[in-house]
Amino acid sequence: MRAVFLAALLTIVVATAPGVYGQSPAAPEAAPLKVDDILDRMNRSESAVFVRMRMYHPLIEVYIQNLTLDEQLGWAPTEDKYFLGQFQLADAPRLLQLGQGRKSRGFGSRLTGTGTAIQFLPDGFAAMAAPDWHLLERSRYDFRFVRREFLGEARCFVFDVQPRREGKDGFSGRIWVEDRDFNIVRFNGINRGTDQTLSSFFRRTLSFHVDGWRVNVLPGVWLPSYVYSEETDLATARSSGRQARFKSQTRIWGYEAQGTESTQQLTTIRVDEPTIDDRTDSQRQLSPVLSQRRWEEEAELNVIERLEKVGLLAPVGEVDRVLEVVLNNLIVSNDLTIERTPRCRILLTSPLESFTVGHTIVLSRGLIDVLPGEAGLAMMLAHELSHLVLGHPLIDTKFAFADRLMVNDAELLQTLQFRRTPREEVTADEKVIELLKKSPYKDKLADAGLFLRAIAQRAKQLPMLIQPHIGDHIADAGQILRLAELMDQAPALAPESLDQVSALSLGARLVVNPWNGRLLLDRTPAVPLASIREKVPLAVTPLMPYIKYAAPQS
Ligand SMILES: [Zn+2]
Repeated sequence: MRAVFLAALLTIVVATAPGVYGQSPAAPEAAPLKVDDILDRMNRSESAVFVRMRMYHPLIEVYIQNLTLDEQLGWAPTEDKYFLGQFQLADAPRLLQLGQGRKSRGFGSRLTGTGTAIQFLPDGFAAMAAPDWHLLERSRYDFRFVRREFLGEARCFVFDVQPRREGKDGFSGRIWVEDRDFNIVRFNGINRGTDQTLSSFFRRTLSFHVDGWRVNVLPGVWLPSYVYSEETDLATARSSGRQARFKSQTRIWGYEAQGTESTQQLTTIRVDEPTIDDRTDSQRQLSPVLSQRRWEEEAELNVIERLEKVGLLAPVGEVDRVLEVVLNNLIVSNDLTIERTPRCRILLTSPLESFTVGHTIVLSRGLIDVLPGEAGLAMMLAHELSHLVLGHPLIDTKFAFADRLMVNDAELLQTLQFRRTPREEVTADEKVIELLKKSPYKDKLADAGLFLRAIAQRAKQLPMLIQPHIGDHIADAGQILRLAELMDQAPALAPESLDQVSALSLGARLVVNPWNGRLLLDRTPAVPLASIREKVPLAVTPLMPYIKYAAPQS
């Protein structure tokens, strides 16, 4: 094995073609770069990444699906796991779970799998954000130059990497290093150290193949954003005679939200701040009714601000506008008069959920990702709109007191629970049918019903995906079928048909900017499916971002 790596190419000619670098003038001649220099610069950039990972505490979400082989449909998900937390790097990377308060520490964060008895540890997934947390030093690794390759806009050197000593730890695989700042953009392979930790913890041999991506968020700043992991030959599954595999998506975002507190404490305040919101709408004291409204509005603002601060809510953006257009279609076609126009916002997590905070309707990113069409989106928005129209309580006014939200981030999700009574849900669902029948979506309700069928069918296998953090259940684990009337109108699910799309894969629509949580709609047209293997509703797929260089801040 070593002989191959010793034959590594020692210099690489970097031809700086005109125009490649955009703003920098193109060098006319090719400048030879030593491989050792490239690798040393790569390690310096990698150290800088680790410094930032220590400084920021971004959110990290891990979603895992276990799959078993179905003779007709190929690999189908049979169970799932979910972790949401803050990434922390001290001695080793850790995932501090949100919504668990103080109870998740060490062994507390160990989850016991059922069925295939595969167990996963959240810290192990946090460790997958880098190929080696002790850097890929030339003294410890052999490198072999493979080729030049573009990843999106980034021109990369591709190297194969192996630990020098045949041992139990270190990264084996391939790295892509871009040629402007020499950052690792992508790494793909296996880290024996992580496997070792996880395997000894679980007393079984596990191997986690990872495909990790960094995104250029600011000029010169690349940060871990996506990791896809997949294992296809699980030793335990083989011995039990049952074919099993798992796939997982790890997303990291919210660096800016978590970094601001420690890095840029506000120390001066301008007295004549020009952006200050002048809300004095009358010279007189507010009437009791108006005071109550204002009170509820304040509670709403407090909750929204707190969710933004922890990085769970995307900043106001273009996707909100898209939802508001659909919402407005419902309002106008039903001739509704609402005292304050409702707004739409997006929760950045994967589990499918929706809820209303005052006059703000919130849908999760995962829900928007998997909804196949506008009619389905209209159905989800109509449900929340119904709570509003029916005069259901929209906000717990306890949040109008500032101290209520002064909890730490880990406890926030326990504080914010907007679940409703079964009675409210039933009446809202009745209203949904009424609103949709008068809306421009009335002829497409079969699509919406089909989506509900797909969710109801998977609710037992994928309880973590179909379980809300904060808001309403989309489906109640197959027990009570919500919106049965819509489902009855829908055709039967046809898993073997390529034309029927009941629900999309995760990550199908929205692209999250890992720095500030801004969302973009992926406008790439849908690719026709080539086989039913590709049609797995609500599936975890590899994540391959389009790599672009960040524009300088103006
Ligand atoms: Zn509801």
